[in-house]
Amino acid sequence: MKERCCLRCGKTLPPGSLVYVAHIRVFADFDGLLLEPEEGIDHQLKQILEQIEESDPKELEREVYEEFSLLLCKSCRDRFVDETRHPWEGPFRIQKDPDPVIQ
Ligand SMILES: [Zn+2]
Repeated sequence: MKERCCLRCGKTLPPGSLVYVAHIRVFADFDGLLLEPEEGIDHQLKQILEQIEESDPKELEREVYEEFSLLLCKSCRDRFVDETRHPWEGPFRIQKDPDPVIQ
């Protein structure tokens, strides 16, 4: 079996060792509110179509939905979970006591 490495620290993860997988899905949210464009809907629609034509389809897809997995050692798993659950304390800082996680 091929030897694997922790994606974060690079530590070798021998076959049979304790390994963690963080499966991440990031997707665009929609709160149900459509704002009326100032320039009119026809103008906005034309702009959007031009942007789509000029953009890479894969990049557009990633802006809406992206899914990937991280292979982590125990130490990096602990840090990842802690920083994700308490982002106001880690490098990915956000406001303290944010709204609860969306279920
Ligand atoms: Zn690691």
